Amino acid sequence: MSNPRQIAFVIDLNKCIGCQACTVACKRLWTGERGQEQIYWCNVETAPGEGYPRKWAERGGGFKNGRLAKGRMPAPEDYGGPLRLDYEARLFEGRKQRVRPQSASNWSANWDEDQGAGDYPNPYFFYLPRLCNHCDRPACAEACPKDAIIKRPEDGLVVIDPGRCKNDGACVAACPYGKVFLDPVTRAAAKCIGCFPRIEQGQAPACVSECSGRAMHVARLGDAASSVHQLVNVWKVALPLRPDFGTQPNVFYIPPFLGPDTEEPEGPRIPEKFLMEQFGPAVTPALATLRAEHAKRVQGQPSRLMDLLIAYKPGDLVRPLG
Ligand code: SF4
Ligand code: SF4
Ligand code: SF4
Repeated sequence: MSNPRQIAFVIDLNKCIGCQACTVACKRLWTGERGQEQIYWCNVETAPGEGYPRKWAERGGGFKNGRLAKGRMPAPEDYGGPLRLDYEARLFEGRKQRVRPQSASNWSANWDEDQGAGDYPNPYFFYLPRLCNHCDRPACAEACPKDAIIKRPEDGLVVIDPGRCKNDGACVAACPYGKVFLDPVTRAAAKCIGCFPRIEQGQAPACVSECSGRAMHVARLGDAASSVHQLVNVWKVALPLRPDFGTQPNVFYIPPFLGPDTEEPEGPRIPEKFLMEQFGPAVTPALATLRAEHAKRVQGQPSRLMDLLIAYKPGDLVRPLG
């Protein structure tokens, strides 16, 4: 049973437009120093795709049979290099230039954006915003030999004490989501802090505040009136990413359920098998509920679930967090 004061996020993948406003808000606020260019506590990748860091889901970590599982640290080239365009040559000398990552691996965060999978006439992809899951069982904390990572009792956020961190990377290898980084500027491991300085002042996390798709909800999980509680615990349509990793995340996703023009002439656009790999078997009943409630709304009938997802007012997305 989660701490009822746990700060939890719900991200509606049907509303995320891949604008990266959340990525930029987080980066500007927390990792904007020179030397931190390739660190993204929040990133939005395209699924199916290799993601960031590259092939993060294939590196192990998390828990297997209840025990900490061995993970592999990403190599520097898995984070890629900054993108570069020679503006002088392109704009003033008329020379053709292509944007290229500055890395030996010819790779950059989000370099495979919008590639997706599937064949014409039904290719598919969706945007997948990712941040630390502030897990109930944080593998990063269990792996740390210096007890430098704690789960705060007042809000369940998982944070690193840079003073205790010895920068050995055990937490980086243990997090199966690739969401801990060795920061070359602070010389310590670093990760999303859930914007706790903002939360302590009653403000929403920056990524949520800036979300132009109004796709992100945040609240304390035990706040029964919140959309987060309703979507996770009552309607059971918000699901953790890769629950098989065993860390019990507190970031939940509404799986994509709409087809082309919502009529799905050739069946669901995104294969359910792929969604099951991402969100586990609970995705099947969740999709059934979402489709049934959506159909009601299309027929002009009321649907409390669709109202929660539409979130008419800002207060419908963000509950008081103090
Ligand atoms: Fe730790 Fe990774 Fe879970 Fe975040 S997502 S709490 S870094 S195990
Ligand atoms: Fe970044 Fe704050 Fe969002 Fe975490 S909660 S991803 S620190 S903006
Ligand atoms: Fe998606 Fe919102 Fe992030 Fe834009 S800001 S990419 S809509 S989650």
